Amino acid sequence: MSVSQKVVLRYPPSLTEKPVVYELVKKYNIMFNILKARFSADDKEGLLVLELSGTNTSLKKGFDYLHKLGVKTELLSQDIVRNENKCVHCGVCSAVCPTNAFYVKSPEMYVTLEMARCIGCEECLKVCPYNAIEISFDIK
Ligand code: SF4
Ligand code: SF4
Repeated sequence: MSVSQKVVLRYPPSLTEKPVVYELVKKYNIMFNILKARFSADDKEGLLVLELSGTNTSLKKGFDYLHKLGVKTELLSQDIVRNENKCVHCGVCSAVCPTNAFYVKSPEMYVTLEMARCIGCEECLKVCPYNAIEISFDIK
């Protein structure tokens, strides 16, 4: 079964010329999607935010490979954010949210987001007809 993980990779300048991500695909059959890439101002560290997809075994081997190279990895912390200017409180997100993080508050009938209940499944993101839901990545 294929699983996806969003991960932050931090690596030293010595690795920037190496095809690290390509090797993940070739050696471990891991697919990737680049969400963000940047260098720190002092060029001491490169940063890549990737969505990696593969089996649990291939992902584990891929992470071992990265760690042996000296790449630091951390799972990405992300928040669902609702754009209040775009939201029309139609309730579509609350219908699909498995944890009731999005729910319709009575009697006002406003759709409310209770972030503490969110498990980050992104179902709401797929269905919002007004593109009012976004993901905010917390990268330090
Ligand atoms: S689906 Fe989108 S527009 Fe509708 S209530 Fe949810 S966030 Fe608002
Ligand atoms: S990401 Fe999933 S759990 Fe979180 S608010 Fe959206 S649908 Fe609900």
